[in-house]
Amino acid sequence: MSQPASILVVEDEQSIASFVSLYLKNAGYGVRAVGTGSQALNAVAAEMPSLIVLDLNLPDMDGIEICRRIRKNSDVPIIMLTARDEDVDKIIGLEAGADDYLTKPFNPRELVARVKSVLRRATSDRRIDEGDEIRHGDLLINSGRREVLVGEDEIQLAPKEFDLLWELLDHRGIVLTRDQLLERVWGYTFAGDTRTVDVHVRQIRRKLGDASPIVTVWGVGYKVATERTTAPAA
Ligand code: CA
Repeated sequence: MSQPASILVVEDEQSIASFVSLYLKNAGYGVRAVGTGSQALNAVAAEMPSLIVLDLNLPDMDGIEICRRIRKNSDVPIIMLTARDEDVDKIIGLEAGADDYLTKPFNPRELVARVKSVLRRATSDRRIDEGDEIRHGDLLINSGRREVLVGEDEIQLAPKEFDLLWELLDHRGIVLTRDQLLERVWGYTFAGDTRTVDVHVRQIRRKLGDASPIVTVWGVGYKVATERTTAPAA
């Protein structure tokens, strides 16, 4: 039998940390809880968990800074907890490389559902073998190595940015709605917060520049054209 997935819960409010840990343990996960940012970074350095549940507001450091630091050398899935229902916080969290977020107060069952969905996605990505590759103009994307190249240059995308780009490239010529993308990339089975999709598309475009193949279809969603019209450089 394989080891249960290990989850690091970073939350300074003891009552929330306790019930979140309890629900996750009951769902079969190994759980470790810490209450500060520095403890979180130490825990990650000592042993990388399978997933991190990270509170935005911590006494010593904010969750976004922790997220950025972890992202420098790891793709570990991160779900952010935010106390304020402000889009700006969510967007900053996602741009820092978080995979998902929940606004407090939340139903712990919903958190467990998100954890399962994010982990399932992370695991199935690892199962895709080498050589699953799509070329589109100057862009070359390899799902096995999770590598994005524009010409010779490797571009670093956050995990969900990569998944979103792959999903669109894999359905070239087809328009995907924001809800479809949420369901396929984030695993939500209900109509969710579709701005999440827009934020990620904006990040992909910023990082890929002119090589971004994503086209906005106003009022519908996004697509990648079947072929680049620009000729390759001779
Ligand atoms: Ca807090």
